[in-house]
Amino acid sequence: MLSGPFLDRNWMGQNNNYEKSNIIMLGLPFDGTVSYRPGSRFAPEQIRLASWGLEEYSPVFDKHLEDVNFHDAGDLEFPLGNTYKSLELIRKNVEEIYKDSKKVLGIGGEHLVTLPEIQAISKFYKDLAIVHFDAHTDLREEYLGEEMSHSAVIRHCSRIVNPENIKQIGIRSGMKEEWEFMAKYNTLCHRYSDLDCLKNKHLFVTVDLDCLDPSVMPGTGTPESGGMLFNELIGWFEYLKDFNIIGADVVELAPDYDTSGVSTAVATKVIRELLMIM
Ligand code: MN
Ligand code: MN
Repeated sequence: MLSGPFLDRNWMGQNNNYEKSNIIMLGLPFDGTVSYRPGSRFAPEQIRLASWGLEEYSPVFDKHLEDVNFHDAGDLEFPLGNTYKSLELIRKNVEEIYKDSKKVLGIGGEHLVTLPEIQAISKFYKDLAIVHFDAHTDLREEYLGEEMSHSAVIRHCSRIVNPENIKQIGIRSGMKEEWEFMAKYNTLCHRYSDLDCLKNKHLFVTVDLDCLDPSVMPGTGTPESGGMLFNELIGWFEYLKDFNIIGADVVELAPDYDTSGVSTAVATKVIRELLMIM
């Protein structure tokens, strides 16, 4: 018998037992519809490796990863090139997680992965609302004639949860029509209290990492200058910790555009802090 210890290649601090875990981390290495630079399919495995560079304790939330009780289920394997089959795989697996009375933490991949997550979760929660961190509105009707695009994901979701149940944070890019949509439904948040109307709802929190400034997060497919710093994002998380979060995802890290690896390290810490408030 070898006595080790051996390196663990699952997310640091995870619970090996699916049945006994409350949160299921699901790797979603899909980047089939990105509009500029592909590569987010490589994010889940790089994030998993980088997690071992973190501490398991979060001083901000005074909480240990073990107290979170999450299970790293690994990465789904997609029929690459087939968007509809890939999304269907996500929807089916997320549905299983909620049938088992657990929460999902999806690790993208590109932002379109949020749509099948919301489709699945909305079957279980009728009063679902979405908190959306992003540089981009993601409210397009279509991109180059294709409606299945990461730049249309929140528009699709708004048909499931209604636009009144969407709040957006960090947005600084989009077409005029998209900004008009945001104004019409008052989705854009400027201060923490703009979220208060969602207090009694079940929240899905979707974090497109390009909400962070490119100086913090260069490793992403569509970098957009003028973004927030890491501690500003964590400030929003601190406010959200008293809300009822029933699912989340972190998307759009493209590790190959960041030779220093710092973007992956930042993404990993965003995920750790998000786990603390779920
Ligand atoms: Mn996005
Ligand atoms: Mn974005």
